[in-house]
Amino acid sequence: MRSRPIGFLLATLAGAVLALGGTSAASASPSTAPASTASGDVGTADACYTWGGTLREGSSGEAVRQLQIRVAGYPGTGNQIAIDGAFGPATRAAVTRFQSAYGLAADGIAGPATFNKIYQLQDNDCTPVNFTYAELNRCNSDWSGGKVSAATARANALVTMWKLQAMRHAMGDRPITVNGGFRSVSCNSAVGGAANSRHMYGHAADLGAGPQGFCGLAQAARNHGFTEILGPGYPGHNDHTHVAGGSGRFWSAPSCGI
Ligand SMILES: [Zn+2]
Repeated sequence: MRSRPIGFLLATLAGAVLALGGTSAASASPSTAPASTASGDVGTADACYTWGGTLREGSSGEAVRQLQIRVAGYPGTGNQIAIDGAFGPATRAAVTRFQSAYGLAADGIAGPATFNKIYQLQDNDCTPVNFTYAELNRCNSDWSGGKVSAATARANALVTMWKLQAMRHAMGDRPITVNGGFRSVSCNSAVGGAANSRHMYGHAADLGAGPQGFCGLAQAARNHGFTEILGPGYPGHNDHTHVAGGSGRFWSAPSCGI
């Protein structure tokens, strides 16, 4: 007798075979080569986090919290969703926007299609495929010495990365350059950072030159959960765009109309 998780994995596997273009013959013959390839794909998804069932408004717990991290970049313009494990209307709206962004049925209910898309988008360490912890911390190796615990700083940086992944996708999936993120208090002092800089909380990222342009980055950041945006025209920000999460909103990039 199979446990529920195994059943879910098999269902996921069958879906993966179909998604990979498997024919009905392939699904009817699970011992063929395509099935073992799909099995490897499922294993990769497992390496970070695997959801065990559908989540919808009213759901709660760690599975919801993990989902909220992944859809944090879809809060709607000027908003930010709570990463609190409670699936309310804001989470439902974020899931719906995520689904629309990737061409999935947009019903605000997170099921296998949504989770499979997330598995495609994440690395084994749970970072989105196009961003790394190393990019988000050019200060030290252990996230220590900031204004919050190392674990909190690192967790905040993970949310920041998922916001950047959403923004990157919305801007045509072109690379976004990240020149730094977390700073310990001493790293922040060394670069002349503001006394209460969000870099010391792991919330902030400094975006460098790229095809989007600094103003393009600042303008797009408004749609993806960044409550602090500093760009061209704001003192010290003509050569990068600073984006951060955290409470309160402060956006200023006068040269970009912000
Ligand atoms: Zn900055």
